[in-house]
Amino acid sequence: MTFNTLGLSESLLLAVQETGYTQPTPIQVKSIPAILTGKDLMAAAQTGTGKTAGFTLPLLQILGGKPSVKSNRCHALVLTPTRELAAQIQESIVTYGKNENLRSAVVFGGVNVNPQMKALRRGVDILVATPGRLLDLYQQNAVKFTDIDVLILDEADRMLDMGFIRDIRKILALLPNKRQNLLFSATFSDDIRKLAKTICVNPVEIDVAPRNSTVEAISQKLYHVAKEHKSALLCHLLGKNNEQTLVFSRTKHGANKLAKQLNKAGITAAAIHGNKSQNQRTLALANFKQNKVQVLVATDIAARGIDIDLLAQVINFDLPHVPEDYVHRIGRTGRAGASGVAISLVSADEKKQLRAIERLIKFTIKEEVIDSEFKPGLIKTKEEPKQRQRQGQRQRTNTNKKPANKRPAKRKVLSSDSKQTSNQVDKTHSQKPKENVKKVTKPNNIWKKNFKSKPAK
Ligand code: AMP
Repeated sequence: MTFNTLGLSESLLLAVQETGYTQPTPIQVKSIPAILTGKDLMAAAQTGTGKTAGFTLPLLQILGGKPSVKSNRCHALVLTPTRELAAQIQESIVTYGKNENLRSAVVFGGVNVNPQMKALRRGVDILVATPGRLLDLYQQNAVKFTDIDVLILDEADRMLDMGFIRDIRKILALLPNKRQNLLFSATFSDDIRKLAKTICVNPVEIDVAPRNSTVEAISQKLYHVAKEHKSALLCHLLGKNNEQTLVFSRTKHGANKLAKQLNKAGITAAAIHGNKSQNQRTLALANFKQNKVQVLVATDIAARGIDIDLLAQVINFDLPHVPEDYVHRIGRTGRAGASGVAISLVSADEKKQLRAIERLIKFTIKEEVIDSEFKPGLIKTKEEPKQRQRQGQRQRTNTNKKPANKRPAKRKVLSSDSKQTSNQVDKTHSQKPKENVKKVTKPNNIWKKNFKSKPAK
């Protein structure tokens, strides 16, 4: 199958050719002709399947035939849950629409609203928006919805998860009744179906990824490891293959802490989560995409929609509470048919989550044995001597007081054994009393060798 058979114009085919795509993905094969007929569409497709081009290409073609857009109005509205996803969709529109005479803009929160208002003043053919900022702009009369012909709801499942349903309903109530509706969602839960019923009229239904299946091209593995040794194992794995890696942390605080630990171990890392300003998020993502940092540590919400070409590896530092998030997380790799690796670090207290994930994906994730070079607990950090000095000073100046964080008299260093199974590792480590395990201890040679500072690429 080639793009030529899908009904796209010469100029769009040229743009597609220039991106280097040789074949349409399954979602594109089904969605492009369906959208071109003007019908509503409900598509079950995960990120990574090529769904953005699946709706952007026919959208550009449809809009090419419309009269020019009036000021503060738009012909098509794309609603997305996150700022990163919005920015990426806009990038795709610019890429695929390079030969079209159409204007587009992207609006999302966390950044100055004035440039967005200015962009809307002339009117845009396609507006990509997150719901909250769009409503702000509407209330300030910066955008009018009267000329909207096409509505696209991308990652609808995540919009509901993120609590956008009220904003979405408000926006829907403001749109003209007669319009084409395209709804994309990784999963079609009952809630999504309910929402879809209020939006789509006799939609064409497309399902390219069976519900909650994980992309086949991704090799999934897990290591059983004690919670307190996860950071060390993460450093070990990252140091071994130098791959660009997206690491998932359940919490914002955890993401910050992990990025710090990795940097101290000489592995360049940045964190991305909801507490970071939009500029910080954009910079972190740009540095990661440009290979200036090896690791991006992200929370589930921040990572939603992140599209990095040829991302080889995803590591779940901790397992998500919601099993569906596992599918979203690992879908960051193995995109558009490329292969990828997804590794999960599973501690004893996460076995329940693991079982829930395996039930959902109907697949037992392969257990890996931690290799013999791994020395848990042995992370050399650059700040160690300073920290010690400061602690020493504090102790000297407060001689009458008991030091607050008294170190254990003796530190236990856990041995590694090449024949040890991953289950044994887990058991051994989880039985260690917490206070015996120090994150900052003496380096050994292997550690030093693996974690020499790498220059930013
Ligand atoms: P998406 O699912 O839209 O986030 O797309 C995932 C990735 O697939 C993006 O990096 C796209 O550039 C890429 N992609 C989209 N369509 C194709 C195609 N037909 N062939 C190869 N890669 C594609």
